Amino acid sequence: MEGKAHLVNWEVVCGDKVNGGLGIRKLTLMNRALLGKWAWRFAYDKEALWKQVLGAKHGLEDHGWRTKKAVGASGVGVWKEILKEADWCWDKMGFKVGKGNRIKFWTDVWCGDSALYQRFQQLYILAANRNALVEDLWDQNSGEGGWNLRFIRDFNDWEVEMVGELLQALRDFRIVREDDSVFWKGGGRGQFRVKDAYSWLDRPTDVIFPKNKIWMERVPTKISFFAWEATWGKILTLDRLQKRGWQLPNRCFLCACEAESVNHILIHCTVVKVIWDLVLGLVGVKWVFPNTVKEVLFSWGGAFVGKKRKKLWNSIPCFIFWTVWKERNRLAFRGGDLNIQRLKYSFVCNIWGWAKLYMEEGPHSLLDFLDWLASS
Ligand SMILES: [Zn+2]
Repeated sequence: MEGKAHLVNWEVVCGDKVNGGLGIRKLTLMNRALLGKWAWRFAYDKEALWKQVLGAKHGLEDHGWRTKKAVGASGVGVWKEILKEADWCWDKMGFKVGKGNRIKFWTDVWCGDSALYQRFQQLYILAANRNALVEDLWDQNSGEGGWNLRFIRDFNDWEVEMVGELLQALRDFRIVREDDSVFWKGGGRGQFRVKDAYSWLDRPTDVIFPKNKIWMERVPTKISFFAWEATWGKILTLDRLQKRGWQLPNRCFLCACEAESVNHILIHCTVVKVIWDLVLGLVGVKWVFPNTVKEVLFSWGGAFVGKKRKKLWNSIPCFIFWTVWKERNRLAFRGGDLNIQRLKYSFVCNIWGWAKLYMEEGPHSLLDFLDWLASS
């Protein structure tokens, strides 16, 4: 094909016929959809022999919904390939509660479209047992049975409303005698279909990329670009250099305790947490941090603040990433000691400098600015 003009773009050719394409299936995607079907069947099928064999060979995890990672010599082969597809499959699966003895109350998706810990973060923080199973929080003794949620302390007035919302969400669910099971969320009446899985894998990438938390009006391009690279995991942290064959110890430049990776240096590092806490503290929010940069951007939301501050608020993660990375590079290349106060100060100045640009009648001093950010 080299040197010849492509008459029609490959994406278009592969598109659905209704969209003017030829409906040719992309082979790699088709292959992934077919492999995905086995991850689904492993969770869905009940006592199949093949499943028992795999379970015995690799060991089970997550209450038997999947096998452990296939590692070492025994991990060569098809099952290993199948496990690579398990993550997106699980994004498309939900649990149907039966006895509730294999589903985690807070962290599995069984009541609504997302896990309860994501929707009720403040309550999750107060939960007496964050790993409780659904059955643990159900009380069969009271008449028809009912939810018996347990928390580490009594509620303040403003929290009671959230408890009400949680109970409202739980209203249509109850423990029954059947076994817990899974269902497929993407069409096919709860059943996996290769065709649906294929279209899901073939969806435009902007659906799964937090682009509106990265490319924002008036945020300096270098800052957006850095966030974009970080979201793809492409910044040159020590773990990546090691993978490229560099012989060097991996120790985070900021906390000097843990190994450096993109998610560590931008989110989980104890030093960086100071800045995240500073921001969340301003608006009095407690947040359970997701694991990855991408998830942080996805779930960083306007729900924390009012409409007026939403634009600025949305850009905060990018500014944190940028500030932290600059400090990290300073320490990595020029040496010297970490100064947390200076790091905080440089973050606040960055964000204030930007806020001044876009707010027409913005606050005039740094203190006013912080007040403004914190007001609701
Ligand atoms: Zn660190």
